[in-house]
Amino acid sequence: MSTSIHTLGSIAVGDLVFTVAPMTDRKTLEITVDRDASLVLRAPAEASRERVERFIQSKRSWVYRKLAEKDALVGPPIVKQFVDGEGFAYLGRNYRLKIEDGIDGVRLERGRFRMSPETAAGGDEAMRRWYVRTGEQWLSRRVEPWANRMGATGVGVAVRDLGYRWGSTKGESYINIHWATLQLAPSLIDYVIVHELAHLKELNHTDRYWAAVERAMLDYERRRADLLTAGARVWACHG
Ligand SMILES: [Zn+2]
Repeated sequence: MSTSIHTLGSIAVGDLVFTVAPMTDRKTLEITVDRDASLVLRAPAEASRERVERFIQSKRSWVYRKLAEKDALVGPPIVKQFVDGEGFAYLGRNYRLKIEDGIDGVRLERGRFRMSPETAAGGDEAMRRWYVRTGEQWLSRRVEPWANRMGATGVGVAVRDLGYRWGSTKGESYINIHWATLQLAPSLIDYVIVHELAHLKELNHTDRYWAAVERAMLDYERRRADLLTAGARVWACHG
C-alpha cells in the first residue's frame, strides 16, 4: 500500500520540488510551471507515489525548458566540497576556501573564504547563512538608487532561498532576492533588482512591464541573456 500523494504537500524528484495541489476529482496527472517558476503537480486521488515519480521523470526536460523560459535559476546541479581550495563566488569574483581552526562562522578575509573544520561539517548551511547576511547589507544599499530611478520609495529587500526564482515581490514595496544571486557580477544582480522592482507595479511580463525595465536599464536585454549563461554556473544547493 502506498500513501496518497495528497497527504505529502510536496514531492521532490531529483532537484525538482513540486507543490501538490489540493485533491479534486480529476483523472489525469498534470504539471504546471507558474509565472514565478514554482512547480505544481495535480494528481487524481488514487495516484501512487511511484506513478507520480514516473510521470515527473518523463516530463523532466519539458520542466527544465519551461524554467529556462521563465528566467529561472536553473542549471546542472553543482555540489560543493567544504575542503581547502574549493571555490565560492561573491559579486562575480571567485574565492578559494581555507579551513582554519578558531574561525567563528564564515569569513571572507584576505582574499579567501575561511571557516573552521566544525563549521565546514555543516558547510552548505553555514555558507547559505553567510550569503543571506552579507547579501542583505549589500543589497539594501544597492536597491535604493534603482528604486528611486523607477519611482518606488521605501522599498524593502530580503535575501532568502527562493527555489528556482532569482527574485520575487511581496506586496507593493518589498522584494525578495535569492541568496544565490549574490554570486553573480553586480551588473547582473542589478538586472535581477530592476526585474523585481518593475514587478512591484506590473505583475506580469507585459509590454508595459518590459518598457518600464528598459526605461530604467537600457541594456537590460544583454544582461538578461548574460544571466542565462552565468546563472547556469551558480551554486544554489538544489537537490
Ligand atoms: Zn518576472
